[in-house]
Amino acid sequence: MDPAAGAGSERFKVPARRESGQCRRDRRSGGAGSDYHPAPDPGIVRIRDTEFLRRINLVTQRSLEIHRYPHPVLARRAEPVETVDDDLRQLAEAMIAVMYEADGVGLAAPQVGISRRLFVADPRRTDEPEPQVFINPDIRLEGDLVPFEEGCLSIPEVRVTVRRPQVATITATGLDGERFELTDDDFAARVWQHEFDHLDGVLIVDRMSPRDRLAHRRTLKDMRAAFESGDRGG
Ligand SMILES: [Zn+2]
Repeated sequence: MDPAAGAGSERFKVPARRESGQCRRDRRSGGAGSDYHPAPDPGIVRIRDTEFLRRINLVTQRSLEIHRYPHPVLARRAEPVETVDDDLRQLAEAMIAVMYEADGVGLAAPQVGISRRLFVADPRRTDEPEPQVFINPDIRLEGDLVPFEEGCLSIPEVRVTVRRPQVATITATGLDGERFELTDDDFAARVWQHEFDHLDGVLIVDRMSPRDRLAHRRTLKDMRAAFESGDRGG
């Protein structure tokens, strides 16, 4: 949907840091709190020619395919990752490349058809890429429920308001095999919760309000019909 998405590193865009938690602002900034970024906004910073971007361009040549709703792998509870080895590092790197190519802020392994408890995220608080890899994560939630508009790379064209706790503490294994813990009460907390849901087979359409369910009924029905007819949407 984003005309600039997938156009390579020259077009890679990063929204400026923002506060989260208010739907109006989220809409303007293009889907904060999701793994889907539909449109550029005035706060964009372009990144050019960093070593990192050259590297992910190489990886992208054998990029993974994003699986779309209602692919059954998206509804399955993913299995734990058993070992952090070179294969897993390669997978994580490829997922990061796919995430950036799709202009997303997070991507879970089930979204690329791999039912393992792993996700990558870059809530993009700075103008440099800061991808993080979360293997076998646990999440602890606290605080008030905050409404926030989310989208999902696996469900393009659908954006729904999801209420989630404000504060998340995530414990996960990194690519170095070590456990680490992070806490956030802002945008990253939202992204982690969205991606963590994917590992349990939960999608934003499972969390949407009756009003959103009605509003998106047709779109979701069309996606199911397309899936049934074998057109998986690429
Ligand atoms: Zn998603």
